[in-house]
Amino acid sequence: MDFSNLHKTDPEIASAIDQELQRQRDSIELIASENFTSPSVMEAMGSVLTNKYAEGYPGKRYYGGCEKVDIVENLAIDRVCKLYGSKFANVQAHSGSGANMSAYMALLQPGDKILGMALDNGGHLSHGAKVSFSGKVYHSVSYGVDPQTERINMDDVAAIAEREKPQVIVAGASAYPRTIDFEAFAEVAKSVGAYLVVDMAHIAGLVAAGYHPTPVGVADIVTSTTHKSLRGPRGGFVLTNDEELAKKIDKATFPGLQGGPLMHVIAGKAVAFGEALQPSFKEYIGRVVENAAQLGKGMTDGGLRLVSGGTDNHLCLVDLTPANVTGKEAEEVLGTVGITCNKNTIPNEKQKASIASGVRIGSPAMTTRGFNAEESYRIGQLIAQTVFNKDDQEVLDRIHGEINDMLAKHPLYPEL
Ligand SMILES: *Cc1c(COP(=O)(O)O)cnc(C)c1O
Repeated sequence: MDFSNLHKTDPEIASAIDQELQRQRDSIELIASENFTSPSVMEAMGSVLTNKYAEGYPGKRYYGGCEKVDIVENLAIDRVCKLYGSKFANVQAHSGSGANMSAYMALLQPGDKILGMALDNGGHLSHGAKVSFSGKVYHSVSYGVDPQTERINMDDVAAIAEREKPQVIVAGASAYPRTIDFEAFAEVAKSVGAYLVVDMAHIAGLVAAGYHPTPVGVADIVTSTTHKSLRGPRGGFVLTNDEELAKKIDKATFPGLQGGPLMHVIAGKAVAFGEALQPSFKEYIGRVVENAAQLGKGMTDGGLRLVSGGTDNHLCLVDLTPANVTGKEAEEVLGTVGITCNKNTIPNEKQKASIASGVRIGSPAMTTRGFNAEESYRIGQLIAQTVFNKDDQEVLDRIHGEINDMLAKHPLYPEL
């Protein structure tokens, strides 16, 4: 992309963007919710579409001059429906949390009850956490993981649903390394007369590529982000096969929650959906899953413990207590050797969330950058070595050197 204008008119912002590009290049990105979107997606987002007001939906807008943006939004809708085999889609949500707001507003009245996965067990803020709109507007209750297996136990979920009688059950997570049984959730929802919302934000790319069972056709409503494993621009979308629900979702999104849609971002979403429809995306996700497994193997061989004993998807949740290091300390020391990740609570957590006993390690971004299975295993070993030697500067310097050599083999955005 050409930033020559920005460098002239606003050198402060241009410089911060340059520095951020350099930061992204200089470390191995293992934050499970991040990815590197394509230059084509970024071009669409940096386009004249940002100038256009388009309140409403294609063919039914509240402004003139929407013929061209209608092409964009219709393509985004058609492509995402094709990608997931869905009948209806709304692609206007500004974010994943916004997509969830739309789903809840379509199904619930304020004060109704939602049952979601607890934040400290891997759920998301917008699944009923008390500090979130979802825990303030709605009466929220939660399920967690089994303390022994560290996996969702569907008998427990069924018992909580039976006792609480929620109007909506939310399935989906931000820090859960295992396959989620959406069919079992649908059965529980049906048995208590609840709607099922599946939030596939983290695994949207895996679902699109067939590496995780799909919630489409199983849940009443499916919500997602576009910027995680799906590798699109920052944003959200909502799917359903039910025509009445589709109308309610549209109304909830606009005028219920948002004004004008971000047409430049919707264009970026359309480009990303088009990319995800290519055979190369399936291959990419295959490598994402393989690399996550190898990262996990490297870390366990290095002496760390994986929550639930392994991973089925794009992330590992790592228990650092064998190294006697907190999540906060690990995040910091890994940063100094060129590895970016985030601290995370683990099941049966003994620390505050701001300290935590684990880190979350994800493979989508590093796989986009080109790291292979062998390198992933090595990175896993280096993560373990780093946390076990966090006070030995000599060891840390050697690891940082090895990381830098690996980074140099996989240049990020060489065209920029
Ligand atoms: C990331 C995430 C979201 C929220 O996405 P934002 O775009 O940050 O609002 C929602 N649900 C789940 C499960 C997520 O992991």
